[in-house]
Amino acid sequence: MTRSYENYIGGEFVSSSVHHDVENPATHEVIGTTPDADADTVGAAVAAARAAQPAWERLPAIERANHLREIAAALRTQRERFAQIIVQEQGKTQGLAQVEVDFTADYIDYMAEWARRIEGEVIPSDRPNETILLMRKPLGVVAGILPWNFPFFLIARKMAPALLTGNTIVIKPSEETPINAFEFARLVSETSLPAGVFNLVGGRGSVAGEALISNPDVDLISFTGSVAVGSHIMQTAGKNLTRVNLELGGKAPAIVLRDADLDLAAKAIWDSRVINTGQVCNCAEKVYVEDEVHDALVERLTVLFEGTRYGDPSAEAELDMGPLINAAGLAKVEGLVARAIEDGCTLVTGGARADTESGYHYQPTILTNADSTMEIMAKETFGPVLPIQRVSGLDEAIELANASEYGLTSSVFTRDISSALRAARELQYGETYINRENFEAMQGFHAGRKKSGIGGADGKHGLLEFTETHVVYIAG
Ligand code: NAD
Repeated sequence: MTRSYENYIGGEFVSSSVHHDVENPATHEVIGTTPDADADTVGAAVAAARAAQPAWERLPAIERANHLREIAAALRTQRERFAQIIVQEQGKTQGLAQVEVDFTADYIDYMAEWARRIEGEVIPSDRPNETILLMRKPLGVVAGILPWNFPFFLIARKMAPALLTGNTIVIKPSEETPINAFEFARLVSETSLPAGVFNLVGGRGSVAGEALISNPDVDLISFTGSVAVGSHIMQTAGKNLTRVNLELGGKAPAIVLRDADLDLAAKAIWDSRVINTGQVCNCAEKVYVEDEVHDALVERLTVLFEGTRYGDPSAEAELDMGPLINAAGLAKVEGLVARAIEDGCTLVTGGARADTESGYHYQPTILTNADSTMEIMAKETFGPVLPIQRVSGLDEAIELANASEYGLTSSVFTRDISSALRAARELQYGETYINRENFEAMQGFHAGRKKSGIGGADGKHGLLEFTETHVVYIAG
């Protein structure tokens, strides 16, 4: 049965004249139809958020936190239903979809915990009898624009810190995965959250997205997605001098040194390449391995890649990965692998579309003999493909890793504390995982350098991005 949805504006579901079908990427079955907001509808959502903001800001932070907790609690009562929607809409495995839903509820609660902890400052004055106060205030109206790869969690990553700090929000989900967001709006509409504090508009980037990023009444555009769209948003936002927070793509290097625990490294790198079918911004997209352990690592990785269980996640519970998100994603991965082989890579395993009845499936693929001049070592692949390059040691690995246009995450496998610390000092990345899988914590700070973004999310530093300062000088 297909489900039908409408934009959620000012606490009401407002019917739209244009809709689009959403398909399951594993079966191509249409699973729902969601609205495509036009510019006027987006304008109405921003106006509703603006109208609701002053009263929301005036509520004590602990009351705003209580609204967030109510949403998290309601979500927990429907955790399996939401996971099922994500499985069908995005092609995530059942286990990972459940992790996404549970992490989302925990994240909302985590942000609520900050209610009593956002403090201002008292700054010493140069004058007698003067007090200088630095206050933290909300920005106003936030536009949250989401990608499709962690569509549900990303709602919370934008909404929870924005609302806790006294902002109101308009969310636009990806046109690929809007259903989970519209179901979330339904859940929010059944809580006591005041109307207009949370708004949701569907639609394409070229229409609904453009209307949001060019609206002068938006105070912050918090965007997660590709470098190309992030760059365009920054240019458009420049016209109104709207603040931007950009979480963009990556090409995370995994550095494996000769003293590494190779079983641990192989497992973490394999996990990282098949989780969400390789469509994760922070996961290892390429390996630099020290010569002496190259063959031993490739041998371990090959066993793991060839043992990967994949298929239709709606039909099978115990899978390691599902399909890619759409035909364009599959064609992109196919093209990158074909050109890598033309460029001189050796295909160890995989290298083709998977032989499944339907769905955008690609085989888990290992390529060796990669080198840094190749496209496959430079461009984000977003698929279950791992190119591997030999290096002479840590010096070369760091030099090559830092030559990237991206700077989101990186990982290092070594038993030597000095090598680990040196990598941590010298890698030009927002995050480095040492001897562990690629996954950030909600209390950390997920922030890219270079073309991977501006600003960051999570923890205290992520929360403060939704505030601005106001300094007050009090004489006498
Ligand atoms: P995308 O840039 O194609 O789309 C993201 C969102 O932007 C969608 O909602 C889309 O409708 C919207 N959009 C497109 N054109 C727009 C425009 N002109 N104006 C306003 N909005 C517009 O990205 P995607 O394919 O959905 O997501 C994959 C990308 O996201 C990858 O590059 C991945 O690395 C990145 N990502 C980064 C992080 C991070 O934390 N750094 C997390 C997840 C995904």
